[in-house]
Amino acid sequence: MNIPVLYIVIPCYNEEEVLPITSRLFEEKLKGLIEKNKIAETSRVLFVDDGSKDKTWEIIKDLSNKNDCFEGLKLSRNRGHQNALLAGLMEAKDSCDITISIDCDGQDDINAMDAMVDEYLNGCEIVYGVRSKRATDTFFKRFTAESFYKILNKLGAEVVYNHADYRLVSSKVLKEFSNFKEVNLFLRGMIPLVGFKSTSVYYERHERMAGESHYPLGKMLSLAFDGITSLSVKPIRIITAVGLIIALLSFAGVLWSLIMHLIGHTISGWASMICAVFFLGGVQLVSLGVIGEYIGKIYMETKGRPRYIISEKTFEDNNND
Ligand code: UDP
Ligand code: MG
Repeated sequence: MNIPVLYIVIPCYNEEEVLPITSRLFEEKLKGLIEKNKIAETSRVLFVDDGSKDKTWEIIKDLSNKNDCFEGLKLSRNRGHQNALLAGLMEAKDSCDITISIDCDGQDDINAMDAMVDEYLNGCEIVYGVRSKRATDTFFKRFTAESFYKILNKLGAEVVYNHADYRLVSSKVLKEFSNFKEVNLFLRGMIPLVGFKSTSVYYERHERMAGESHYPLGKMLSLAFDGITSLSVKPIRIITAVGLIIALLSFAGVLWSLIMHLIGHTISGWASMICAVFFLGGVQLVSLGVIGEYIGKIYMETKGRPRYIISEKTFEDNNND
């Protein structure tokens, strides 16, 4: 087997504080892997600037001017982590044999890359980086994140437990993946759908080296919701089941009140009536909301808008499409 060309793909959004620190670490890791003859000398670190409002793009351009191992591309506006990552992977896939995607804040242990490349050399096409401990996350983040994986799996989406977007994917898998045209992206749930031999390596998650998280509760909930509704139609089935159960119960209730009426025990119950109205109203609104979420997704998918637009690159195109 030839020595593979590796592209480390890193989405960055307003990361001027952390980039100067972590870019050096990525460079060292790349050089280390090249020295060990595990990856080819033409391997690169590819930064994707996700429409940052600070100096991130200037830093990336500067890095790529000074050092051949850095490349960058800039999206025309902020499209979110998943779209930025996809842009990087799709750009990289024609120039390399393997990609490793990782966040730029140094939270994920870059030393796990050695094991990832080893697994690739052993014949795996996808290697998931899995957090063995979440000691550095707050209790709240840990609890919400772990519940999220559990709910997703219960709902039938195949997501690797405690795996985020730190993973090795070969260009072979990415070429197949480029046929997945959906605009609602949840990469960690979609990559397993491509198939091929895969495995996991374990690492400890650290604190962010600088700057702040861009995943506040709101964005986290929206990612969780996207994850569930883009991978599973079970919520709609649950609604149907709840609807059926409520219909059966109300049927029993109607029978009961008819019998009561016939034997002359009618009670003028305002409370029970108002409860039933509120309860049914609530269930109906939630159900409509969930169904609306799916219709919204269909709406976005039918428009088929581009998932990202690249406005600048630090390198020449080498593919003809
Ligand atoms: N990110 C991005 N676009 C966004 C938000 C985040 O490209 O709109 C990048 C960010 O620069 C980082 C990664 O996605 O490299 C993960 O973000 P962050 O570290 O803020 O999330 P957390 O680790 O707290 O979940
Ligand atoms: Mg982070």
